[in-house]
Amino acid sequence: MIPVRGYKGAKVAVLGLGRSGLSAAQALQAGGATPLVWDDSADVRARAEAEGFAPYDLTKAGAFEDVATLIVSPGIPHLYPQPNKIIAAAWAAGVPVDNDIGLFFRSFATQDWDGFDQMPKVVAVTGSNGKSTTSALIHHILQEVGRPTQLAGNIGRGVLDMEPAIDGEIVVVELSSYQTELARALTPDIAVFTNLSPDHLDRHNGPGGYFAAKRRLFAEGGPDRAVIGVDEVEGQYLANQLAGGSGDDRVIQISSGRKLAGLGWTVFARKGFLAEWRRGKQMASVDLRKVVGLPGAHNHQNACAAYAVCRAVGLAPRVIEAAFHSFKGLPHRSQLVAEKDGVRFVNDSKATNVDSAAQALQAFENIRWICGGLEKEGGLDRLLTHLGRVKKAYVIGREAPGFALQLGDLPHEVCNTMANAVATAARDAEAGDTVLLAPAAASFDQYDSFEKRGEDFIAQVEGL
Ligand code: ADP
Repeated sequence: MIPVRGYKGAKVAVLGLGRSGLSAAQALQAGGATPLVWDDSADVRARAEAEGFAPYDLTKAGAFEDVATLIVSPGIPHLYPQPNKIIAAAWAAGVPVDNDIGLFFRSFATQDWDGFDQMPKVVAVTGSNGKSTTSALIHHILQEVGRPTQLAGNIGRGVLDMEPAIDGEIVVVELSSYQTELARALTPDIAVFTNLSPDHLDRHNGPGGYFAAKRRLFAEGGPDRAVIGVDEVEGQYLANQLAGGSGDDRVIQISSGRKLAGLGWTVFARKGFLAEWRRGKQMASVDLRKVVGLPGAHNHQNACAAYAVCRAVGLAPRVIEAAFHSFKGLPHRSQLVAEKDGVRFVNDSKATNVDSAAQALQAFENIRWICGGLEKEGGLDRLLTHLGRVKKAYVIGREAPGFALQLGDLPHEVCNTMANAVATAARDAEAGDTVLLAPAAASFDQYDSFEKRGEDFIAQVEGL
């Protein structure tokens, strides 16, 4: 655990007692503060109490008297659609609002570092898609070369749950827009912006608010080095704002699909090859076509981002290339589950929206596509141009017939359940086909989470 510094003897309110809230409470206590913890859910409060944190009612009048700061969990709206009432009460009482990420950046560096040979570094990764894959890939490469490294943030481990840094360590943190929007300190050494597509628009009051939240990671005086995906205008704007001129090495631009010209430092993937250019010269090239754990143009973008970060910390191209080959990928993201009689079974249950499903559908050939679930706003229209490689769709979900109606001429079968869909797709499949779960919908109509949906897919495949 990383003890929180700067609040010794102070009362600090903690709102939201999920993973990050509880770890913030523990880390505050370890740093000598008194955490006053609260969650609107009685069940969650009971769990916190079982861990030794008696609830403190932050909804009562005067709750913020003598409170130094309020720490808020990412799931709780602090601005749009409207601020949570407790947050508004903290504002009214003049209490600064922050989150565990802000506490982390203020507590990470310690005096012990004076004795280190190599200063620890923080790599922070944000963007709409590919954050988890990119973060996990950077962490994997560093592990493979024997660099001390830890991985935390939005990926499932609270940042304050990490151990204090050791000599030469590189900490990789995945940050969502909810986290970057609120943190009062954001000082990574290297920051990554993978890409931008519309998401979470209610929490940010539209795409401009969403970009503004992510952009805070690169604000004035920001990271020493920025790795920026420039396939959208937002990335192009950001890269321009951060670089002093065309040859400025502070920014490494990345792209999936475009050759990036100019004198700057660039890493891009085209037709299955990654290329690194610097000062007008090609530095290295990596064949990504046989990297099993990173299939498709979207994963090649993630590979470019991870490669750029690893080059920025001084690793050689060949070392990074070797580590790509041992990357297994993350569960539920283009995850190869099994291969039977020449048919591959791939789990991309994390494709919960139309854009991520479109990426998955471009990463494979001869697809038997398992899709459907709880539809997101906007319908499937944007997906219809990406169905060229789909032989047939197998539709699941409580609204499966309605979902199937939107698929137009695409051959399809309403299967309703995962068991039925996997069995039918496997029966139809021929050698060379890929049975792909990429639902383009949330899972909550039939499952508790996208992970549970992916696990069901795996279980059905194993049962064949
Ligand atoms: P995040 O953490 O940003 O949600 P993940 O790595 O978990 O990203 O991937 C989420 C979904 O988006 C998966 O379905 C995956 O196939 C797809 N995806 C992964 N990387 C990218 C990318 N660079 N661009 C677009 N889609 C991607």
